[in-house]
Amino acid sequence: MKKIPFLLLAIVALVMSCENSSENEIQQETSIAQEIDMSDFYLHSDDEETSSKSANNQGKDCHSMDVLNRQLQENPGLYNKMYNVELHTRNHTAKGKPGGGGGNPNGGGGDTDVDVAIVPDNLGVINIPVYVHIVYPNANSISDARVNEQMAVLDDDFSSTNVDQLPTGTTFANDATDAGFKFSLAGTFRHDDSTSSWGTNNSVKAAYPPITPDTHMNIWVCNIGGGILGYAQFPGGNELTDGIVLGGDYFGNTGGVYGAGRTATHEVGHYLNLRHIWGDGRCNRDDFVADTPTAGSSNGGCPTFPSVSCKSADMTMNYMDYVYDDCMYMFTDGQRNRMRAIFLPGGSRSTMVN
Ligand SMILES: [Zn+2]
Repeated sequence: MKKIPFLLLAIVALVMSCENSSENEIQQETSIAQEIDMSDFYLHSDDEETSSKSANNQGKDCHSMDVLNRQLQENPGLYNKMYNVELHTRNHTAKGKPGGGGGNPNGGGGDTDVDVAIVPDNLGVINIPVYVHIVYPNANSISDARVNEQMAVLDDDFSSTNVDQLPTGTTFANDATDAGFKFSLAGTFRHDDSTSSWGTNNSVKAAYPPITPDTHMNIWVCNIGGGILGYAQFPGGNELTDGIVLGGDYFGNTGGVYGAGRTATHEVGHYLNLRHIWGDGRCNRDDFVADTPTAGSSNGGCPTFPSVSCKSADMTMNYMDYVYDDCMYMFTDGQRNRMRAIFLPGGSRSTMVN
């Protein structure tokens, strides 16, 4: 009989401690949630931005944000899913932010000296298995060698082993990072298809659906048309359209200013939850990463350092800008933290590592 009061006490204590713990978690999540500005999820397409982008990007065109905006309008439920992805990301990247603040959307500000610490995790090098779908009138026109070139570029860029990785002559040397990913080709599927251009409405994915997108990254290589290099789906979206679409002219080492395979690097960045480095807006929009300075718009061509906007030098050499392939060569520690957070327990791509 004496054991019962102890047992009851223990249960009461356990319940109370659980309540305290969940209250703290709720308070913490609420404070971070209050700092998420969901208006940053939308592309701001006012006339000034549109004209400055077309003037600056000199031909480079990624449609990931346009596709996201369309999907948010078509599917009201997507908003909540992406909000939860963002909340999870901020809860798991807070330690990487200066001063521990997790959710400051303008963390980069105009300060080029912001240094973000790498958030330790036990994920090691994250392996992403890849399915490639080649969809062309003659699908053999994209060879296995090209596929392998592209895989090698992804490996190099996401492990910072490319020879041009160090941003010499800039103030960003401390920010360049090994993101800790490798990519393994799980299969190549060729489809002879006479469709001349597929656009950005995911029709190529409907025609040739993704294979096990919860465990594999799917890449479609086809003619998108309209001078568009590629588009990716951000984490949190519909599984049936999950993956990356690349124009064949920009897949692998094809030569030309966008022919070094880095359109794929840029689109995989989106697939792993990175925004454009300029935040798809002017100086008051951010990319949710503290060690990338705020920029007024995209940069194109091959800028000479410094290229200044919003009172600081832009990180034009970041993979998430619009510059030529040979002129982009880094992710930052803050971007690394953001990409890896989605693989942690509860993260939107955690099924790929479990
Ligand atoms: Zn993009």
